[in-house]
Amino acid sequence: MHMSETFDFIIVGAGSAGCVLANRLTASGRHRVLLLEAGPRNLHPSLHIPLGYGKLFSDRRFNWCYTTEPQPQCHDREVIAPRGKVLGGSSSINGLIYIRGQAEDFNYWRQLGNAGWGFEDVLPYFRKAEANERGTDQFHGASGPLSVSNLRDRHPLAEAFVEAAQQCGYPRNDDFNGPAQEGAGYYQTTMRNGLRSSTAACYLKPARRRPNLEVVSQALATRILFDGRRATGLEYLVGSDKRGARAGVEVIVASGAFNSPQLLQLSGIGPAPLLQSLGIAVIADAPGVGGALNDHFAGRIILRCRNSITLNDAVRNWGGRLAAGLRYAATRRGYLAVPAISAGCFVRAHPASETPDSQCSIALYSAGTIGGELHPYPGVTGVCTLLRPESRGFVRIKSADPRAAPAIHPNYLATRKDRETLVVGVKVLRRIFQAPAMARHIAEEIEPGKQCDNDDDLLDFIRRRGSTTYHPVGSCRMGQDRDAVVDERLRVRGFAGLRVVDASIMPAVVSGNTNAATIMIGEKGAEMILEDARAERSKPAATF
Ligand SMILES: Cc1cc2nc3c(=O)[nH]c(=O)nc-3n(C[C@H](O)[C@H](O)[C@H](O)COP(=O)(O)OP(=O)(O)OC[C@H]3O[C@@H](n4cnc5c(N)ncnc54)[C@H](O)[C@@H]3O)c2cc1C
Repeated sequence: MHMSETFDFIIVGAGSAGCVLANRLTASGRHRVLLLEAGPRNLHPSLHIPLGYGKLFSDRRFNWCYTTEPQPQCHDREVIAPRGKVLGGSSSINGLIYIRGQAEDFNYWRQLGNAGWGFEDVLPYFRKAEANERGTDQFHGASGPLSVSNLRDRHPLAEAFVEAAQQCGYPRNDDFNGPAQEGAGYYQTTMRNGLRSSTAACYLKPARRRPNLEVVSQALATRILFDGRRATGLEYLVGSDKRGARAGVEVIVASGAFNSPQLLQLSGIGPAPLLQSLGIAVIADAPGVGGALNDHFAGRIILRCRNSITLNDAVRNWGGRLAAGLRYAATRRGYLAVPAISAGCFVRAHPASETPDSQCSIALYSAGTIGGELHPYPGVTGVCTLLRPESRGFVRIKSADPRAAPAIHPNYLATRKDRETLVVGVKVLRRIFQAPAMARHIAEEIEPGKQCDNDDDLLDFIRRRGSTTYHPVGSCRMGQDRDAVVDERLRVRGFAGLRVVDASIMPAVVSGNTNAATIMIGEKGAEMILEDARAERSKPAATF
């Protein structure tokens, strides 16, 4: 194996968190950083044009294209589990929606014993990250790297959805990331001038020229190297070329909710019986690594519209595509600048919920399968996401081969409360589509269809057709208990020189979309890493 020189920090994964880390850790010029990314550079236009989102679901060049294990509560279906595999990671292929979650989510993390992670503690990092075109206030920042913008065009169907939600009694909400999340309105997006603001574009690109940052793409990390319980470096593959690098200060795993626990397990940190069964030498028996996987599950309904004004119609014919392409080229507006979902309504569906437990949204297109061909009729999709699922699953390697996909088992709908809440949430969603402002646009509900008129049938429909909204977290959970993987400073418990900094450390999924919270974790993680490095340097030298 060729061992390259020593870096201060090695970051594994250039995703939402990894690119933030690469930028912040190299900013002072004091530290040398190696950033490894399994996927390629983010040069393809689909990674920059918002509508490219639809094409990236099944593009193995930029997406790991995982699927879950058969899900027992979903008629034993395998559910898609896309993840970005490119500079920017999942922020390069995601739906661009900017939602942080509720203050209560972070206060809950703190209640679990994670000092420094309450809402008041994390808000400064959300603000530090953000360049919100609405400007700065108590909740928002305007001078960070991450562009957050309003929708450039308001579509009549999105307008109708927001009005219909108000007709159902939900308040208008013009800022889901402001004082309260409940109510209906438009989403803000991670976009600038009609182009995607992935973390590769807004954090990594400005740092690329720094001489103390080395970025190696198409490099698959295969094993963390240790000296006792201190991480000292990393082995990785570029093609079939096996390489290594030393870390003088830390190895930082930022490979996402599926691949971070995978790398720890491959390196000997994980459930001992699992590792032994695969012939991996156990460094630490850590049953919690890969445990507690928590993901958002959603019911999706499909409706046929009366008028040909949906995305299905715009992209069906060459004339429509050409017109949309020309408009986008000239103005960066129109269908190509549309995020996956434009408007939504946060609701309390379950009677016991004190804050919204369901996110109802409208997507301006419909398809038989996620990422599949759009329907040949004018169609929209209604999505209801269960915001705080109790269900927990796991990520476990199936092989000692780092190129093999891990077993992903989110255990969707495992609890009764999850099933009940999602059924009520989908009923709320259907009510919004039936309210006058929306009903005048709708010809018929195609899925599940009007014959589905009781809770049992609706639950069966959700089990058959429901899917993830791509927010896996918790597989390297932060906490103070025996099964927690990292402590509140994101240090892998029981190890020196090793942290996990990405979505996998969330103790529970936030009530929203997870990109913003992961970027916040990257910002806060970077600050803690730099503080600890400073403290280490200022320690008096040992005397003998
Ligand atoms: C299809 C989709 C739609 C989404 N829509 C939204 C949305 O609209 N709004 C929102 O807020 N969130 C959305 N999300 C979720 C959000 O994007 C993720 O939660 C967030 O990007 C996770 O960040 P991360 O840093 O944890 O992991 P990632 O961004 O996934 O980054 C991990 C990186 O590590 C790399 N990697 C993995 N293993 C290795 C290895 N062994 N060696 C080297 N590199 C490795 C990966 O290739 C990847 O680039 C969506 C996600 C997907 C997939």
